[in-house]
Amino acid sequence: MRLITMIVIHCSATRCTQNYTVQQLYHDHVEVNHWRFIGYHYYIRRSGKVEATRPLERIGAHAKGHNAFSIGICYEGGLDAQGHYADTRTPAQKKAMAELIIGLKRQFPSIVQVVGHCDLPGVQKACPCFDATPLKKYLWKKNYEEDAASEKQLKDKNSTSEGKEVKP
Ligand SMILES: [Zn+2]
Repeated sequence: MRLITMIVIHCSATRCTQNYTVQQLYHDHVEVNHWRFIGYHYYIRRSGKVEATRPLERIGAHAKGHNAFSIGICYEGGLDAQGHYADTRTPAQKKAMAELIIGLKRQFPSIVQVVGHCDLPGVQKACPCFDATPLKKYLWKKNYEEDAASEKQLKDKNSTSEGKEVKP
């Protein structure tokens, strides 16, 4: 197995009102580009369904200069209904993305970075159309629910203290 230190997040740059299936992705990457596999290792549909699209031991074709040590994850979307760049991730996609990162870190403890495609030096793209930096926290989480629960707890705590402040 190759050494993996980084996860790179991408979007399919398709409209959130449009279906872009694994079959279409396969068509564009394999039949049109003549690649052996889809460029990304994982593809997350709007439903939250995670598709394994390239064997992890194979170097991906998704982030020039960074493929050798990385895993590429792409989510379906990235453009709003009008075709503008937007974070179109559904709650199911956010959950699936977090769980995938947690699972990959478990499998490859050598992973120390989660970045958006546009965060890589020299990349003049909006991909993945949202700030992927906060996703890095999932490298140190055991599960997505733990995180969702702790965030809710923090929110509750904040609203409680705010409530106290307004009391005489
Ligand atoms: Zn990309």
